[in-house]
Amino acid sequence: MAGHVVNGGPEHVPQDGLSGAQLFNNGDGLTYNDFILLPGFIDFTSDEVDLTSQLTKHITLQTPLVSSPMDTVTESDMAIAMALCGGIGFIHHNCTPEYQANEVHKVKKYKHGFIRDPIVLSPDHMVSDVFLLKKEHGFCGFPVTRNGKLGGKLIGIITSRDIDFLEDKQNLKLESVMTKLDSIVSAKLGVTLEEANSILEKSKKGKLPIVNDDGELVALIARTDLKKSRDYPSASKDENKQLLVGAAIGTRPQDKQRLELLAAAGVDVIVLDSSQGNSIYQIEMVKHIKKNYPNLQVVGGNVVTAAQAKNLIDAGVDGLRVGMGSGSICITQEVMAVGRPQGTAVYKVAEYGRQFGVPCIADGGIQSVGHIIKALALGASTVMMGSLLAGTSEAPGDYFFSDGVRLKKFRGMGSLEAMNRKDAKGSAMDRYFHSDVDKLKVAQGVSGSIVDKGSVLRFLPYLQCGLRHSCQDIGTRSLSNLRAMMYSGELRFERRTMSAQSEGNVHGLFSYEKRLF
Ligand code: IMP
Repeated sequence: MAGHVVNGGPEHVPQDGLSGAQLFNNGDGLTYNDFILLPGFIDFTSDEVDLTSQLTKHITLQTPLVSSPMDTVTESDMAIAMALCGGIGFIHHNCTPEYQANEVHKVKKYKHGFIRDPIVLSPDHMVSDVFLLKKEHGFCGFPVTRNGKLGGKLIGIITSRDIDFLEDKQNLKLESVMTKLDSIVSAKLGVTLEEANSILEKSKKGKLPIVNDDGELVALIARTDLKKSRDYPSASKDENKQLLVGAAIGTRPQDKQRLELLAAAGVDVIVLDSSQGNSIYQIEMVKHIKKNYPNLQVVGGNVVTAAQAKNLIDAGVDGLRVGMGSGSICITQEVMAVGRPQGTAVYKVAEYGRQFGVPCIADGGIQSVGHIIKALALGASTVMMGSLLAGTSEAPGDYFFSDGVRLKKFRGMGSLEAMNRKDAKGSAMDRYFHSDVDKLKVAQGVSGSIVDKGSVLRFLPYLQCGLRHSCQDIGTRSLSNLRAMMYSGELRFERRTMSAQSEGNVHGLFSYEKRLF
């Protein structure tokens, strides 16, 4: 860049703005909206920007994006999509240990294009069941096994063609109308996606059941999925080429059994899920994990001060989760009067953690690409998101309509609704309680709904592209260089007054539509 002037450059250019240290060392607590980054010099294209980031001491991601362990955000579908796009998802623990471990298992066993938990029918199901399923899921084409379950002997398949003219014969059993085994094209377990693709192409069928040597159904491939399927070159994978996945646990004695199941299912990283992580319980759990599962990465938290971080770093954490009270559904600051504005929390903890090589996850309060880049510019290595990913098709839960708007439920893990959950998935949360002596639950979160955002597989590429453009404007080719620029003082910031913030938003229009990509 010789000859070109950058911020903090040659003496004859007056230095503009503030360094990170100047911005955060005056005692105010700042949020992402309270400051802005000054632009740098561009001598590269945005697609050259490297978004590689460390999640923990030993896990590096190609994309600094993480989904939160909330029961309306991350189960296996979300974790798979996050990992395919180069990030990672943490499976929530507001469920039985068995349910959570099975979600981890689904991510570790995922193979792109293979449906590992297809809807399966039995020969005793009725034509009416198929019409119902078609209405509910929008597709038709279900394998039929002897016992009506995955793992049962494949005996047929039922498709639109089998039932199209049977609307008035709803109570016929599938046995008499399905396409029987001898006319089905199936493939053997172990088939690659390419092979499956060519079998489907030749057979001209819509679905390809995958069976083991005993003829039992193990998976399904859909032609429509294959058409959509594309490569994910930056997918987060372990050395066995399986997708990376994280899971949350608490710090109670029974969490040690949960941990055992998660480790057996192949989890790569554990987050100790607490709104205030600086506790004797968490320190003991970190030590337990490090002693008994030396290959498992552990993220401690949440913390917002260097003093909190110190205890967890001393105990041996591989990463820190930063944030208290900044989440979209959070009422912690209001109810407990404890917490910290997120910009300051991220700056302070990241600055301390880097001295020990411990990366930080900026958790909560992310509403836009701009907030992500700000968190990273303050020293975070990755960001964790709840609301930004809720409402996508990969988030748990069904869509519903309210006033003509398509919505999904989204709730805080400290909301009464989440803490009192007692459905088939299991247990109540203990993120907000350190011991069993709490008889009355005090809510630290709310429950609500969020608008349909489509698929994470489309949304994450938008975030990645936005981050690259932002780095280009700042004048950095990588996120690691972004942090280096911040600590050297080359990266310049400025405080934003309230009027500066309104100037930075859309203004003066009678009406407008905000479409992001
Ligand atoms: P969001 O991305 O702003 O929606 O924030 C998500 C983060 O909020 C999560 O990762 C948690 O750290 C935090 N969180 C989740 N549930 C609650 C709650 O009930 N009260 C307070 N914070 C919560």
